Amino acid sequence: MATLAEFKTKEKSWWCPGCGDFAVLASLQKALVDLNLEPENVALIAGIGCSGKIGNYINSYGFHVVHGRTLPVAMGTKLANRNLTVIAAGGDGDGYAIGMGHFMHAMRRNIDMTYIVMDNHIYGLTKGQVSPTSDKGFKPKGTAVPNHERNVMPLEIALASNCSFVAQGFSSNVKQLSELIAKGIQHKGFSLINAISPCVTFNRVNTYDFYKENLVNLEELPDYDPTNRMQAVETVVKYKSLVTGLVYQDPNSVPFEEGIPNFKDVPIAHQDLTITQEQFDSLMEEFR
Ligand code: SF4
Repeated sequence: MATLAEFKTKEKSWWCPGCGDFAVLASLQKALVDLNLEPENVALIAGIGCSGKIGNYINSYGFHVVHGRTLPVAMGTKLANRNLTVIAAGGDGDGYAIGMGHFMHAMRRNIDMTYIVMDNHIYGLTKGQVSPTSDKGFKPKGTAVPNHERNVMPLEIALASNCSFVAQGFSSNVKQLSELIAKGIQHKGFSLINAISPCVTFNRVNTYDFYKENLVNLEELPDYDPTNRMQAVETVVKYKSLVTGLVYQDPNSVPFEEGIPNFKDVPIAHQDLTITQEQFDSLMEEFR
């Protein structure tokens, strides 16, 4: 059984002191230990941005991909080796701007994997420009005029895109965030965990204090039923997405890969894909 120490690397953290991403990292490591997973059975596919550094700090298989492409690589990884626990992780800029097309299709495709988005409402790595989740009127240092675009609403998009598991956590509540990640990993299908992860250096509006004052914990709403999709939509809209907890889980979710003919065959990663020189030449011929 792996310990927390075995999921850590020796790399020195690059994040600013107080960055919300530290708590997301700790929550993920705790969830992996709580689920009795071993580092060699986990693959973490990380995106570009401050949050993408998370892959450097977790001891597992890993792939630091180009901007916005965590999900196609993660989906391919899972389909090639279905024995792996596959986790994609990145920021709101990576996932909800350049990666938005992949995001929506990955959700409806429902491959058995987990996507953690560290949402800080800003581009931190490039020193503070508005991101897709920035509120209208937000004016960070790195943008000349206040944001006059309306913001992307990840939870609403996920519910509308038929995502089978939607949750939101907050860096200040590692216990809840870690439990949500563990639940997402155990879920059969695609799970989204939008992790509110404040950028203490460039975002002076969406701060820890702001969220502590405004977040509503769904676990404390007496009649909230996370299997009721309509109630999930109404609640997320009512509280303007300022909620934490399990928003929605489809209890009847069937992962994409279980619908593939010969699903039970040996995954590609375990097949002998050696080809002869003749087969290779013929393949090359097709592209001449
Ligand atoms: Fe975190 Fe912001 Fe620093 Fe990036 S710039 S490491 S998001 S606090």
